[in-house]
Amino acid sequence: MVEPSFADAAAHLLWGAACAGCGRAAATLCPACRAAISPVPFLAWPSPVPEQLLDAPPYAAGRYEGPLRDVIVEFKEHGRFTVASALSPLLAASIREAASAHARLTLVPIPSTRRSVRQRGFDAVGSLAAGAARELRRDRQDVRVRRALRHARVVRDQAGLDAVDRAANLRGALAARHQRLEGAVILVDDILTTGSTMAEAVRALGAQGHRVHAIAVVAATPRNHPFET
Ligand SMILES: [Zn+2]
Repeated sequence: MVEPSFADAAAHLLWGAACAGCGRAAATLCPACRAAISPVPFLAWPSPVPEQLLDAPPYAAGRYEGPLRDVIVEFKEHGRFTVASALSPLLAASIREAASAHARLTLVPIPSTRRSVRQRGFDAVGSLAAGAARELRRDRQDVRVRRALRHARVVRDQAGLDAVDRAANLRGALAARHQRLEGAVILVDDILTTGSTMAEAVRALGAQGHRVHAIAVVAATPRNHPFET
């Protein structure tokens, strides 16, 4: 584990004292960006809803746009790992909503590919899940993180693929480890777009007899909206 003081010093060397949202002078986030990304959890149904998600409602803490998008890009694409501390509370808020008062929770992060871990130098979703779990434990929530999913084969880059092609590209891409998962299982990821990765994760866990209670992400793309009735 990296000592926080060392991480802060390293972050300062790498990124200077610039806000991850707007670039103004700030250690990680300036007060304005921190306020702009404060969590407002909502049910973030993709459209169309993948069949596997019908019994596993997806919650997000914000929309993937504006400052929140900038902060996530800084975290994932620019490898600014200290930003996890600003994003974990959002994932925690989303998980609280998804947990629907269940006493015990098991968080299952969507696994990063080996390639992205190598490129970034860290496991983005895994570190967010661990941070969110710490946050929830402070509220006395019984929660654990289990890396119960693994990549079963290499998939093509999802960028530029539509929902149908994404689903085809991902079918059979994940496999669940033989593992006991306690309490309500919540799948976690950073961003929800079409929901096809989540659908594949629900399928893979289901094949091992695990039912997914709900899904929690930091942000959902703006096309994800609650059902309007
Ligand atoms: Zn800012």
